[in-house]
Amino acid sequence: MAEPLVLAALALQLTLIVALRYLGVSALFAWIAARLRPGTYRPADPDRRARLARQVRREIGWSLLSAALYAAPAAVALAAFARGGTRLYTDVAAMPLWWLPASVLVYLLAHDAWFYWSHRAMHHWPLLFRTMHAVHHESRPPTAFASMSFHPFEALSAAWLYPLMVFLVPIHVGALVLVLLVATVMAVTNHMGVELFPKGWVNGWFGRHVITASHHDLHHSRYTANYGLYFRFWDRLFGTDAGLSTRVQPPFLGRD
Ligand SMILES: [Zn+2]
Ligand SMILES: [Zn+2]
Repeated sequence: MAEPLVLAALALQLTLIVALRYLGVSALFAWIAARLRPGTYRPADPDRRARLARQVRREIGWSLLSAALYAAPAAVALAAFARGGTRLYTDVAAMPLWWLPASVLVYLLAHDAWFYWSHRAMHHWPLLFRTMHAVHHESRPPTAFASMSFHPFEALSAAWLYPLMVFLVPIHVGALVLVLLVATVMAVTNHMGVELFPKGWVNGWFGRHVITASHHDLHHSRYTANYGLYFRFWDRLFGTDAGLSTRVQPPFLGRD
């Protein structure tokens, strides 16, 4: 097969994988949210219920489009990997063992930094907000299906990062799978509308450093704060941390 056709076939397969991963993880955490706080996704009021159903359909539509846009640069990286042209490695002994966890952290920190600054830029300039980011904020409050609900311009603004990094920063294939898993699960759980972690964790060391639903929920209601993705230090350093939302905490998790 000619190279463009190989890439197109690869992109199509990756689109399917990303879409199924999104649908599976989102459905799982939507189900958990409904268990933890009954009524979260089925409000008693029929009008609100119909509005929510329309919102979820919209979130799924944008997210499936994002899946295709994430898959395209990933296909380029995967094709290069097959030819040995990336820094992805499969032999654990190819790098020191400490690099395994360190590489996971480096990838997440790079993603976090790019997200924080591009996210702030989209909120800072009204034109950028309207054209790129307003779609994501149509989810008020978001659901577990909002994790990839982005305008194509916003999806493209982040889709290139990991595919580019695999050409520059060595990472074991297994560690990269872990990075993608963490990215997917955190994106879904931060939008699911219910806090998964006990209050003692959220208000303790963990919640002071790691972003959970309580932190990101406040971004969706306030707009002007809590821009981070995985960690809170950028928000703290630059005075954009507004603390935590209590709306998403189910009552039974209220104890420490
Ligand atoms: Zn969000
Ligand atoms: Zn935003």
